[in-house]
Amino acid sequence: MSNYVNRILDNLKRSCVGQDVFIQAATEVLFSLKPLLDKESKYEKHAILERITIPERAISFRVTYVDDNGKVQVNNGYRVQFNSAIGPYKGGLRFHPSVDLGVLKFLGFEQIFKNSLTGVAIGGGKGGSDFDPKGKSDNEIMRFCQNFMTELYRHIGNTTDVPAGDIGVGGREIGYLFGQYKKLTGLYDGILTGKGLNWGGSLARTEATGYGAVYFIDNMLKKAGLGLEGKKCAVSGSGNVAIYTVEKLAQLGAKAITVSDSNGFIYDPDGIDLALLKELKEVKRARLSEYVKSRPNAKYTPVSEYKPGTNGVWSVPCDGAFPSATQNELNLEDIKTLYANGCRFVSEGANMPSTLEAIEFMLSKKDFYFGPAKAANAGGVATSGLEMMQNAGMTSWSFDEVDSKLKGIMKHIFELSYETSVEFGEAGNLVLGSNIAGFRKVADAMIDQGYV
Ligand code: NDP
Repeated sequence: MSNYVNRILDNLKRSCVGQDVFIQAATEVLFSLKPLLDKESKYEKHAILERITIPERAISFRVTYVDDNGKVQVNNGYRVQFNSAIGPYKGGLRFHPSVDLGVLKFLGFEQIFKNSLTGVAIGGGKGGSDFDPKGKSDNEIMRFCQNFMTELYRHIGNTTDVPAGDIGVGGREIGYLFGQYKKLTGLYDGILTGKGLNWGGSLARTEATGYGAVYFIDNMLKKAGLGLEGKKCAVSGSGNVAIYTVEKLAQLGAKAITVSDSNGFIYDPDGIDLALLKELKEVKRARLSEYVKSRPNAKYTPVSEYKPGTNGVWSVPCDGAFPSATQNELNLEDIKTLYANGCRFVSEGANMPSTLEAIEFMLSKKDFYFGPAKAANAGGVATSGLEMMQNAGMTSWSFDEVDSKLKGIMKHIFELSYETSVEFGEAGNLVLGSNIAGFRKVADAMIDQGYV
């Protein structure tokens, strides 16, 4: 059966040239499915791997807008509708210059199994653009979002495909996208999640991914008789996921001592000042280097001072790490440094932040607890699912109600992943556990629905 996995990966490498991050994501998932494929021949018989690695549909379009200087700007727009076996496509939109079809295929592929783990009836998709929101005026962002939606609206719907935010797409962008969808269709649908609270959004959606990543590792540590209380944690990123990871860590008695952006990182030995971080990133949209102006004890290290081939934020001694910025931000050398400095757990808030070699290292250590992205960061999309439920019922739940459902979902995802790792003889290997549990549900649904 391992031949089956190798054959599919060889085919993907041939057909997806240049899509390295997609191949990386497929390699991680497919290798960990081997014990299941050895046990159950039906998945090969029904050509599940061949089918599940090709998006049902990948839409690519042009987005044109006029900037504040009257210059015409042109970008690529995409929506990858990867798999709808268990529900409508669901997954965020990313606006970042690094976005291309390969990046969105990696994110959409991961989303299939993550969404399956949540227990909510949602399929996997992802979209976005190589548009860079950094340095653009509000009006430029609005015009871009409107023109992006003018193409996207014909492909989405609240029972077909429901996008959300991701890197570069927060509450402001969701608002502009929603406004344009409504204008074009005349429909007040829950077509996007992450909406504003006055117009269909859910309390605790903003907090959900960061909170969820902390709840997840808390479950994992408790299972081992450990806890978060008093732990010093390194967090990367300073966007939505990072901010609410810092917040939940403080609420549970731990302390975040770092945050970062693409220019450098902050080390604050007294603990990251959450109010200052929110003010800088959510209100002023300032660069992180501004942080040290108000916190003299904190140190800012620019990327130019990082040891070549490493991410400086992981050089700070800590008990646990929360990579919450972007893919491949934690490599083998980084994890070796973290481990040597006493770090014993990682909870992935970002998507695929650890390289395959770093994951292998973490899994090889008996005294290390690793919460892989598709389980640990599933709280965001799960809460998007809760937003869809509230929209469908024309109701809204309190913050505590949503937060307590989120907590329950993260516990369920941990237990399902852990039990599956035990079932396949690798107790505690949650890469294997989450991949098999997420895959099995989708694959069985695909078999039930025939060859489509
Ligand atoms: P934001 O846009 O809010 O923040 C992204 C943060 O990561 C910023 O601090 C940004 O710095 C940094 N960053 C982005 N790209 C790079 C890069 N190439 N190198 C270094 N730093 C970088 O995004 P989110 O917080 O929403 O998303 C962060 C991660 O979490 C992503 O991997 C996303 O897919 C994942 N995720 C998000 C969910 C959500 O609900 N938002 C749900 C599940 C996963 P800078 O400002 O300098 O670019």
